[in-house]
Amino acid sequence: MFHRKDTVPVRVGNLTIGGSDEVIIQSMCTTKTADVAATVAEIHRLEEAGCQIVRVTVNNKEAAEAIKEIKKQISIPLVADIHFDHRLALTAIENGIDKVRINPGNIGKRDKVEAVVRACKERGIPIRIGVNAGSLEKHLLDKYGYPTPEAMVESALFHIGILEELDFHDIIVSLKASDVPMAIAAYTKAAEAFRYPLHLGITESGTLFSGTIKSSAGIGALLSLGIGNTVRISLSADPVEEVKVARELLKTFGLISNAATLVSCPTCGRLDIDLFSIANEVEEYISKIKVPIKVSVLGCAVNGPGEAREADIGIAGARGEGMLFRYGEMVRKVPEADLLSELKKEIDHIVDEYEKT
Ligand code: SF4
Repeated sequence: MFHRKDTVPVRVGNLTIGGSDEVIIQSMCTTKTADVAATVAEIHRLEEAGCQIVRVTVNNKEAAEAIKEIKKQISIPLVADIHFDHRLALTAIENGIDKVRINPGNIGKRDKVEAVVRACKERGIPIRIGVNAGSLEKHLLDKYGYPTPEAMVESALFHIGILEELDFHDIIVSLKASDVPMAIAAYTKAAEAFRYPLHLGITESGTLFSGTIKSSAGIGALLSLGIGNTVRISLSADPVEEVKVARELLKTFGLISNAATLVSCPTCGRLDIDLFSIANEVEEYISKIKVPIKVSVLGCAVNGPGEAREADIGIAGARGEGMLFRYGEMVRKVPEADLLSELKKEIDHIVDEYEKT
């Protein structure tokens, strides 16, 4: 078992990545970065969903210059995603970026790398090295023949070496692959090889449905080993969905303290209420709650009371009505038509109580 708190802490804006068990949620804008209004609007939606760091693509001068205005209008740290062009990195840094994702080995001549490192040092800005199985350096493909976990870690060490040689240590590393076992092996080896914080992701994982499963399998395996300091779920979907999945995944491992959890049953022939619609509405209702309460929605009295006793608030269905439980005690019976509204009222009440304590 690795312990994520054993990693080196790295400051990114007002956050610290690594050095603790906290795992931070990231996402990436889908907008053209130069379109400030659209980018800021998307960042606000992501932030409201629980995103803590956001990355934008900086693929041209206009995008690098837009950072200044974007930064004025958002409150979470902003990361610039840059490939090859050190001038874009320098402009992004000048304009107040909080972190740069660039691979130093791909920048080119040493003076260009030194210029980026110097600018980052002056402003306390970290660099994320983003290793991707699909774009490994030629010398590694020549050596290994094809992408392997060992080649990915060697790539990370190659880029780390360049930064360390310049006495730069505010480093975060990702080793993404769309092949889940390869990503798990690469991250596991990386956690043994160095102590820089790891940003977890399964790249090009697919749509909301398949990407959620692939990302959860891969990132979940790593989180269960104590590996990973930030996460991004990459989906071919609205990035708000990435944040929702990430929050749910972190909840599964008890790695988030500002989210409510829903327990609901799969239903069976014993069911006598419309449980699916109640569970879905409750899930939507609690998604914005920022306190760690547990809500259970169970179909009948077989498992319902037992589960509801474990939750802060819950219902167990019966024929045309439901039992409402609060901290394990049955409070009252409620007609089915009023179950949802009564449950929401009780949830609000519990949240109020929690916020006062
Ligand atoms: Fe079936 Fe009741 Fe279990 Fe739901 S809680 S699956 S309705 S037995």
